[in-house]
Amino acid sequence: MGRARRYAQGNGGQVSGSNDRSKAKATQLVLAGRRKEWTRGIVSPPVWRASTVLYDDVASMRANAVRDTHHRLFYGRRGTPTQWSLADALTELEPGAEATFLYPSGVAAIAAALLSVLSPGDELLLPDSAYEPTTALSNGMLKRFGIKTRAYDPMVGAGIADLIGDDTRAIFLESPGSLTFEVQDVPAIVAVAKERGLVTLLDNTWATPLLFPAIEMGIDMSILACTKYVVGHSDVLMGSVTTTKEHWHALRSTSFQLGQTVSPDDAWLGSRGLRTMGVRLKQHGESALRIAEWLRDQPEVARVLHPALPDCPGSEFFHRDFAGASGLFGVVLKGGGEEARAALIDGLDLFGIGFSWGGFESLAIPADPERLRKAVPWQAEGPLVRLQIGLEDTDDLIADLEAGLARFRAAA
Ligand SMILES: *Cc1c(COP(=O)(O)O)cnc(C)c1O
Repeated sequence: MGRARRYAQGNGGQVSGSNDRSKAKATQLVLAGRRKEWTRGIVSPPVWRASTVLYDDVASMRANAVRDTHHRLFYGRRGTPTQWSLADALTELEPGAEATFLYPSGVAAIAAALLSVLSPGDELLLPDSAYEPTTALSNGMLKRFGIKTRAYDPMVGAGIADLIGDDTRAIFLESPGSLTFEVQDVPAIVAVAKERGLVTLLDNTWATPLLFPAIEMGIDMSILACTKYVVGHSDVLMGSVTTTKEHWHALRSTSFQLGQTVSPDDAWLGSRGLRTMGVRLKQHGESALRIAEWLRDQPEVARVLHPALPDCPGSEFFHRDFAGASGLFGVVLKGGGEEARAALIDGLDLFGIGFSWGGFESLAIPADPERLRKAVPWQAEGPLVRLQIGLEDTDDLIADLEAGLARFRAAA
């Protein structure tokens, strides 16, 4: 099985109908990153642990130092076949992408991507629905380094053109948004960015390349918190940035200068998770949609913020651009306050209470987006709960939520 053949499938950049594309993706998940020189004839690349790489002599050490070290053993910080295999697999899942770099967390990936693009004096456009640590980075370290951030309404679409000033250098997108799940009109924003020569970065953690092919859609840098669906088992923190030929050198040198690296053991767990990501996502998506539709009909629920349902802003873009949904969504409750919401969540039997998501297990957390809004205030009929739907039986999860809504009603 030659890599050339796989690349030939992936690099055409042609969208030949979502069925063909999803079939190719399922196959790619099995094959991607398993180059023979890395697996040495077994199925998956082993864990290559290394800091020091040994050279035969001084001449070969010197020769290596001036060669391109991409996919070449040099020093442990630049990776071994274990990390390259996972990075390469993520690249293969994004038609049109040139390379992927791995980071010790999703936040570290976001930071490296932004630092590779922005310089003092530049302005970044950031949606109000961005993941909170992305906003904290922009308003913290980036600001300290003289980079400005302008918050925008995630539903702005082509209207983003009106927000672009002389210093604007990049547009960050996150679709659907964290906590509030607005689906952005990515093609409209990308079209404006291309016309104005701006770099686009997308946090694609919710959809992964399986449900939203970011690079193919014209995004310059596609960022994943691999902690979520790639790893899939709530036991490793990791991030990735997949990018185009135009941007990968800058991203690589920024990542090297920052000393970013992931352990081979973590990369190996990421590769293990990736092989089943397709079937897991399919089940997460199916179960979450069924539960979201059930919740929509409950009297205690004002709105369900699930990208496939019409109450979610931008659901028309979801149906146009995505190959499917994953397992995370929001529920706006009707009336009731902090105590009633806590009564609902605290008594849940099958939903854990904790940050993160994308693992095999269900989670429920209170979400308070109003603190984060700058461009458009958050308005809701009651408190918001975010649900991550795991791989448990959906009837069991619904029974658990039904009892939770009864507690909410009693306490409200
Ligand atoms: C969790 C998350 C991140 C950050 O990932 P970590 O690995 O926890 O740092 C980034 N973006 C989104 C949308 C997330 O949900």
